[in-house]
Amino acid sequence: VIETSTAAEAAALLATASRIVLLSHVNPDADAIGSALGLSRGLQAMGKSVVTLLTDPVPEYARFLRGADAIGSTLPADPPDVYVFADAAGFDRVGSLYTDDPSRFEGVPIVNVDHHRTNPMFGTVNFVAGDASSTSELSYHLLRELGAPIDADTATALLFGIVGDTGSFRNAATTPGALATAAHLLELGADTQSIAFYLFECKTFAAARLWGRIVGGIELDRERYIVFACMSQEMLRAEGATADETEGVAEYLRGVAEAEVVMLLKETEDGEIRISMRSRPEVDVSVIATALGGGGHRQAAGCTIAGPFEHAKKTLIEAYDSFHPQ
Ligand code: AMP
Ligand code: MN
Ligand code: MN
Repeated sequence: VIETSTAAEAAALLATASRIVLLSHVNPDADAIGSALGLSRGLQAMGKSVVTLLTDPVPEYARFLRGADAIGSTLPADPPDVYVFADAAGFDRVGSLYTDDPSRFEGVPIVNVDHHRTNPMFGTVNFVAGDASSTSELSYHLLRELGAPIDADTATALLFGIVGDTGSFRNAATTPGALATAAHLLELGADTQSIAFYLFECKTFAAARLWGRIVGGIELDRERYIVFACMSQEMLRAEGATADETEGVAEYLRGVAEAEVVMLLKETEDGEIRISMRSRPEVDVSVIATALGGGGHRQAAGCTIAGPFEHAKKTLIEAYDSFHPQ
C-alpha cells in the first residue's frame, strides 16, 4: 500500500539530490506556478541545480513572478537525481512532457507534492495533503523542513499560489494553515500588492470584451440550479484574446444567486470542450468531474469531454443527474 509521506520524508529525498527537474500541471494556474517557482527558487538557494518545466506557457498574469521567464518546456537530455511533481493530481496532468515518453521517468525517484484528494500517490514519496489550501502552502512547509532560504521573491511566488487557490481567502480552501502560512510569507517580504493586481485585476482590453461575450451568453437551468457559459474559438478570434484569459469568469458566475453550480464550457483548438466547474459549498462538483474522466476539488473541478457544445452540455447534465436524482 502506498501511503502519504511527511514533509520530512520528502525533504530527506530532496536533500540528497543535486540535480532536480520540477514539473507542474497543464493549463497551469496560480498554484501550479507559485508552487513550482517557490520550490525551484528555494532549492536553487540551497545550491541545487533545478530545471522547472511546464507543458503549457506561463499565463500573462503570472509573468511578473521572478523566474517565470526561465520556465522551460523540454526535458534535459540526462535524467535528474529526482523529479518533483507539484500540484499534479496524476502523472498525466503534466501533459506531453510526461505522456510523450513516460519511460524517461522510470528508475528516477519522484517527489509528489500535492493537495488534490484524487491524487493516486504515484510518487516515490507522496507529500500529499487533501486538506491543505494549496500545493504552495505545502511547498512552504517543505522548504522550511529543508532549511532552504526563502527570499522575498520566493515568498511572493508561494503566496501567489495560496491567494490563487483560496480565491483571495474567500473560498473553502481558506484554512488556518493558509492564513498562518500567508502571514509568514508576508513577514518574509511577499509582495501582496502585485499579487492582487496581476491575479485579479489586470486584464487586457480584449479579455474584458471576451468576458462580456461569455457572460452575455449565460443560460440558467432553473431545475438543476446550474449556470452554463460557453467560450468558443470564434469568440477568441473575434476579440483577439487567449483561452487563459477566461481565468476568473467561472468564479465570477458562482455569484449568480439563482444557481449553485457553474459549468463553463471552453472549446479547445481541436474541438474538444474543457469544462471548469465551480459550486457553492452544498454541492460537490469533483464527483461529476471525476465521473467524466477529470478531477479536482469539491468546489472547483474540471474535465475535458467531446464537443460540440450541445453534446457536452448533454453529457454534463446526465452526469449531474446521476449524482443528484430528481
Ligand atoms: P480549472 O477549472 O481548470 O481551474 O480546474 C479546477 C480544478 O480542477 C483545479 O484544481 C484543477 O487542478 C482540477 N482539474 C481540472 N481538470 C482536471 C482533470 N482533467 N483532472 C484532474 N483535475 C483536474
Ligand atoms: Mn492547480
Ligand atoms: Mn492547487
